Amino acid sequence: MAETGTDIGAPAVLDRDGLDALVRALAARGRTVIGPTVRDGAVVLAEIDSGDRLPYGWGVELAAGRYRLRRRTDGAAFAHSAGPQSWKTYLHPERVRQWSADRAPDGGLTVTAGEGEGAARPSFAFIGVRPCDLRAIAVQDRVLAGGRHPDGVYRARRERAFIVAVECTEPGETCFCVSMGSGPAAENGYDLALTELTTADGGGDTDGRGDGEHRFLVRVGSEEGAAVLEEVAHRPADRPTAAAARDRVTEASRRMGRAMPPVDLRRLMGDSLDSAHWDDIAERCLSCGNCTLVCPTCFCTTTEDVTDLTGDHAERWRRWDSCFDLDFSFMHGGPVRSSVRSRHRQWMTHKLATWYDQFGSSGCVGCGRCVVWCPVGIDITEEAAEFHARARDAAGGRDGPGGDGRTGGGVPAAAAHRTDGGLP
Ligand code: SF4
Ligand code: SF4
Repeated sequence: MAETGTDIGAPAVLDRDGLDALVRALAARGRTVIGPTVRDGAVVLAEIDSGDRLPYGWGVELAAGRYRLRRRTDGAAFAHSAGPQSWKTYLHPERVRQWSADRAPDGGLTVTAGEGEGAARPSFAFIGVRPCDLRAIAVQDRVLAGGRHPDGVYRARRERAFIVAVECTEPGETCFCVSMGSGPAAENGYDLALTELTTADGGGDTDGRGDGEHRFLVRVGSEEGAAVLEEVAHRPADRPTAAAARDRVTEASRRMGRAMPPVDLRRLMGDSLDSAHWDDIAERCLSCGNCTLVCPTCFCTTTEDVTDLTGDHAERWRRWDSCFDLDFSFMHGGPVRSSVRSRHRQWMTHKLATWYDQFGSSGCVGCGRCVVWCPVGIDITEEAAEFHARARDAAGGRDGPGGDGRTGGGVPAAAAHRTDGGLP
């Protein structure tokens, strides 16, 4: 698990062949390499065996309730923002068999442990983890791997995971990581961090390879990251490449498609619990739970027991659940949150406010997935802005709750971007 807070060693440069070699080197170490690839009209996460499977030349067009692929002329591999899946698909899988039991003809019972109890555990390498998703993994680390009762499946997968982050140079129309303090620069939590520069970026090459080379600035965040980098062809980073990478990330931070209102979101949500705007949201919300399934920080699960027709074989499965499900809050006598209004309020206030009380941070990292994959286009930033406008009106036109709703210490991530330390 990458836990370093500062880069170690000098930054380097990989070309496209070098990135391919990196994928192969990680696979040769016995890791299951997961990266973005194009399938069924979307950039999805899947196992890849070479860098050629990456979505070179593909971008996306995003809007509330809309996702479309589009061709890019610069051949970039990582100029697409968050897709329908997040890394929790692999770290906190949708379904896990917790145990199974078999009854023998003589009545004897055999119980077989599931993954959480010592079965073979996968060793992943993730290629292309966005800064917002690095933050989301850190959030799930606190929820699932911390405390007195860590989740065995999550912790085992997380401890073995090798992370290759990719800084965002092409924010999506629905991204708002800057206002949540979670991007577009990668600060920590990675083994290696890439910043992609395409031929369109020009400049940056001092060793005769020619300006405008498609290349990746690499920063090293762990000892294993340094060891893996040593196995692939690379060269020391030159100052123009480092400067171009820094500029691209800084520029990306200025092109965010959306932003949360710049107020204390905890207080805004707390002051809006009785707002009539929840009724307006409830009229549009289908309570389908898509937003929770795509959200990289949502973690709720339920358990199901299944048996075969003979009753001689039984299994217990854990699967993702959603607070939008009516059964989610079922207690004696019925569900506690029986209305869509109450379920949507639970989800949004938990994400933006009460998550702090439970876990010490926001539950939202500004990835925009819930906006894109909501079938009716409900946009959490627009709803927060409406609550803010109503609070301001109620306060006689004065601004509502003051302060800074960002989670990242109030420092725009791009301002703290490090790319030139240790350059020759
Ligand atoms: S906000 Fe959208 S995605 Fe979430 S439950 Fe409602 S309709 Fe579904
Ligand atoms: S609430 Fe929406 S924008 Fe925030 S982390 Fe979850 S999916 Fe991303």
